[in-house]
Amino acid sequence: MPIDATLPYDSDNIFAKIVRGELPCNKVAETEHSLAFHDINPLAPIHILVIPKGKYVSWDDFSAKASDAEIVDFTRLVGKVARGNGCVEQGYRLLANIGKRGGQEVPHLHVHLFGGAPLGPMLSA
Ligand code: 5GP
Repeated sequence: MPIDATLPYDSDNIFAKIVRGELPCNKVAETEHSLAFHDINPLAPIHILVIPKGKYVSWDDFSAKASDAEIVDFTRLVGKVARGNGCVEQGYRLLANIGKRGGQEVPHLHVHLFGGAPLGPMLSA
């Protein structure tokens, strides 16, 4: 069920629990402000989620309120994870779902990194 990305941050969401270490994840990389881990239900041979550790519901929230340090850290980690998983040469896809029409289900900003195979068209009709 897609979430309303305009709602206040819910500290009980599943990714908040992963950040706090209350739930496990298959970690790919971690920095001061960001965390990358494998998606539990991969939709491509490589399907990694990159999240900020801070309490941001969505890209909208993050881009408006995060510090420059958090934004730089997050952006660089997305690129580093792609390079570190051999995605750059063959190409890959980044996706952030935002809110109801975007189909966002977890109310903590995450960027999906897909790779490892041809990914087909951007959206199905
Ligand atoms: P959204 O639709 O919000 O953009 O994507 C949420 C993603 O989170 C989905 O791809 C889903 O498989 C993934 N996910 C949901 N719960 C968990 C979890 O507990 N652990 C991990 N690693 N991924 C999860």
